[in-house]
Amino acid sequence: MTGMLAAAVLADHADVTVVERDLLPSGPEPRKGLPQARHAHVLWSGGVKALEELLPGITEQLVARGAWRARIMTDLVSKAPSGQWFRRFNHSHHTNLLCSRDLLDAVIRARVLEDRRITLRPQTELLALQGSANRVSGVRIRAAHSEDTLTADLVIDASGRASRAPVWLRDLGLPPVLERKVDAGLVYASRTYRAPGSTADGFPIVNVQADPRQAPGKGGIIAPIEGGRWLVTLAGTRGGQPTADNDAFLAFARELPHPVIGELLAGAEPETDVVTTRSTANKRRYYERAARWPEGFAVLGDAVAGYNPVYGHGLSVSAQSVIALRRVLRRQDLGARGLARSIQKAAARPVDNAWSLAVGQDVFYPGASDQPPSRLERILAAFVDRAVDAGSRNPRALRVLLDVMSMETSPARLFMPDMVALVYLGRKKPLLDGPPLTEPERRAAVAGAPLGSVE
Ligand SMILES: Cc1cc2nc3c(=O)[nH]c(=O)nc-3n(C[C@H](O)[C@H](O)[C@H](O)COP(=O)(O)OP(=O)(O)OC[C@H]3O[C@@H](n4cnc5c(N)ncnc54)[C@H](O)[C@@H]3O)c2cc1C
Repeated sequence: MTGMLAAAVLADHADVTVVERDLLPSGPEPRKGLPQARHAHVLWSGGVKALEELLPGITEQLVARGAWRARIMTDLVSKAPSGQWFRRFNHSHHTNLLCSRDLLDAVIRARVLEDRRITLRPQTELLALQGSANRVSGVRIRAAHSEDTLTADLVIDASGRASRAPVWLRDLGLPPVLERKVDAGLVYASRTYRAPGSTADGFPIVNVQADPRQAPGKGGIIAPIEGGRWLVTLAGTRGGQPTADNDAFLAFARELPHPVIGELLAGAEPETDVVTTRSTANKRRYYERAARWPEGFAVLGDAVAGYNPVYGHGLSVSAQSVIALRRVLRRQDLGARGLARSIQKAAARPVDNAWSLAVGQDVFYPGASDQPPSRLERILAAFVDRAVDAGSRNPRALRVLLDVMSMETSPARLFMPDMVALVYLGRKKPLLDGPPLTEPERRAAVAGAPLGSVE
């Protein structure tokens, strides 16, 4: 995703080669290098906007292939980590995109590769950087058992969580960069179901969030995706992790802080076996702070930072980082001195936003971090809890909360005076005592009755 989007932007400035280890399928099919595609992926509205800015019309192309625009204030049934159910308000400002990750990638890939200025080198592995500590001049690659060198004015590493950039930089003689890891020990278990009853179109996303202060944290999501399917992901932290046992999946869903996902799945027919992943730690490399940085090289996407996926921010950061890349390239020439460092610094902004949201919660899981939560982190987390409570019961507060959660604005927005006033003084509707599914929605899932609209 990051590599393809970056290629689209770079093509306005140079001939571009995308080096990809996998043989890329022609359609929305699974592949080895993208194991996370089997788990639920939600693209928040900030990411949808960034994607649309990079590839105008792409949302429509995705929708034509079965992706679903979810108006998140209405189409989300969600239980907050601190326990309350969010009310559903009629409001269409935040529109998320829901589909399988395979479909998302296939449509983006096909669109980007239409550009003749971009060459794809599939089944080709990036092995090392070429050049010196002052300037990267290309890459060493391997394809079909033979090695080769590609020269380049700019190399972007977009190789995801397992990026070897720290080793490549060390091999050029550069000092290590600061890294941080906050690992809640979360395990994801996912399974695809045929959408039960008459829920194939317009059924809300159902989400039960884990509470970092009630370890083990357990949560789950039903993500309605293309092809009349539900992609169901369940997750648990240390001491409460799900397994790949098909027979245990439903029981785990019933043990979440609320059993609604288990209830909705009771009569649903699974289409796949359960798959699990432990690749969920928040892990960041602070390249933008490196004491020395070579010309001609930048790192983007998960290769810079991966986040606990329950917050669903990685794809949005990826698209927003590429917009940052585009902005820098429009200001500075490809050969300009300091270009690579400017890209790295600009790309760090969306990373900062997603990082503070994820780590601000996850530091509370036992054993997640070397350093226990600081006093400031505790104060901020307590305020965020209050903001979530206000958002669950007041549409204006929810709008601000969603501006932040959707990656449309920075988390600092939560602390602006109007939001603080809403949190402490705003009128709030009473707490809900259960998931705000409408009766027609429940009946649609269980008895196949037609879906009604939300009041
Ligand atoms: C379980 C899970 C669920 C997630 N859910 C969400 C979600 O709901 N919403 C969201 O926004 N984000 C989510 N994410 C995060 C999202 O998957 C990532 O942010 C996103 O994939 C990052 O894209 P990328 O292009 O940077 O890296 P990747 O998608 O990992 O792509 C890296 C690419 O590099 C290739 N590659 C790797 N090494 C080499 C090499 N040496 N040479 C050549 N090619 C190489 C790989 O084959 C792959 O194609 C989730 C992540 C996980 C793990």
